[in-house]
Amino acid sequence: MEGRLAIAQIFQKQVPQQLLAILPALLWIATRRHRLIVILKWATDSSRHAFHTACDSQPMPPPLQLSVIQNWSCHNCGGCCRQHEIDITDEERRRIEAQGWRAGSEIPVSPIVTSGPPWKRRYRLAHQEDGACVFLDEKGLCKIHSKFGEPTKPLACRLYPFVFHPAGESVAVSLRFSCPSVVANNGRDMESRTKELRGLEAEVVPENAAQIPPPQTTAKVRLTWTETHHVIELLDTIIETEDVSFPLRLWRSLFVLDLLARTQFEKIRGERLVELLQLLADGAVDETPDDLQKIPEPSRTGRMHFRLLAGQYARRDTAATLQRGWIYRYEMFKAALKFTHGRGSIPRMQDLFAEEIPFAALETPFGLPEEATEIFQRYYQVKLQGMHFCGPAYYNVPLIEGFQSLALVYPVTLWLARWLAAGAQRNQITTDDISLALAMVDHHHGYSPAFGLGSFRARVRMLAQLGDISRLVAWYSR
Ligand code: SF4
Repeated sequence: MEGRLAIAQIFQKQVPQQLLAILPALLWIATRRHRLIVILKWATDSSRHAFHTACDSQPMPPPLQLSVIQNWSCHNCGGCCRQHEIDITDEERRRIEAQGWRAGSEIPVSPIVTSGPPWKRRYRLAHQEDGACVFLDEKGLCKIHSKFGEPTKPLACRLYPFVFHPAGESVAVSLRFSCPSVVANNGRDMESRTKELRGLEAEVVPENAAQIPPPQTTAKVRLTWTETHHVIELLDTIIETEDVSFPLRLWRSLFVLDLLARTQFEKIRGERLVELLQLLADGAVDETPDDLQKIPEPSRTGRMHFRLLAGQYARRDTAATLQRGWIYRYEMFKAALKFTHGRGSIPRMQDLFAEEIPFAALETPFGLPEEATEIFQRYYQVKLQGMHFCGPAYYNVPLIEGFQSLALVYPVTLWLARWLAAGAQRNQITTDDISLALAMVDHHHGYSPAFGLGSFRARVRMLAQLGDISRLVAWYSR
């Protein structure tokens, strides 16, 4: 690690600043459509419907690992029907066509868009002019649901905001916080949804689920499922420790994983690994700074990479913007240069953000509302318990790197919340700012293709190597 840190420092000193500014900005040109990837990312097309009807002759699907701290019911805000492109299967296409929708009267345009060559056809639901799904009505309801019933909707629509991930002998269920009802913890508890979730599991979980190996822990080491669960349980325990502030819980989690990565733990397995983890956790408690102010400020290079990261999370690439092709890419390139320099006004990435807010305005303390701890604690516990931060759920990234990316969600969310507050002429952030910013961030986290690129991952690794993730957590929690 020290060698890599040295390389990062040499890079910082010797590469001309102009080049440093242009290189990361160029990476922003990559724009890809953000589809609603709610089908299991680890299920192949052929295995996806293995449990389709869950008839008696088939084996029982693995038990579900449900988060007991999260509630959810749909409140028909229509957000998911505006944010995503919905890919549908050939079977779903035929079902919708058989429903006989009349374009121009019942729905504004023909319902299905076809793309790809004849041997590899792809189908997706069409959108209205304002970007909403062709089937979304003025009350925020789905016309397919209203006319033919919920089971006839495409699977992607029925599944959202739930996601299923492999967890060894069980299947972990997580939720997407891009849904405002999830962020608000609004609705029924997960246990009361067991029957519905079992039905969805039967449609999406492949037969070989229990044979899927655990995610790598580091690029070189893969623990067993039992050992992987020990690491995740330890992180989960740290995140729910109530006697320290939330940013210090993240600090302790990062501290433990950093030390673990430096230890040759591939030779320390089973019960000895559990003992090592406990030692590291005790060490984190002893080393925890008693005051967040004692954590140094983020480095200059760290701040630059952080701004570029936060700017990516603030983006809203829609079908309409992407149709503008290279003009849009050029605008993004110019915006990225501004994020790199961090001077002047922040380029407005979408309508939610006000114009003319200087970068410097977000660097003064904004405080945190009391409710912030509950929101972030629930977010991190749902993601950890739902295996929603590494492996197949997160671009096949190893566990430690995946947690580092997840830890960055905290300062990024607070940076975007500050931007929202500053746009409303406030110097304090509210719970609403945090909720809106978290929904925005989680919309991308693990789902935007750009975030799985090597360049994005290298940025996270560099922030970790510079020791800047904990510093950013402390800095933006002031
Ligand atoms: S974003 Fe959530 S609350 Fe809004 S329509 Fe979609 S599932 Fe329902």
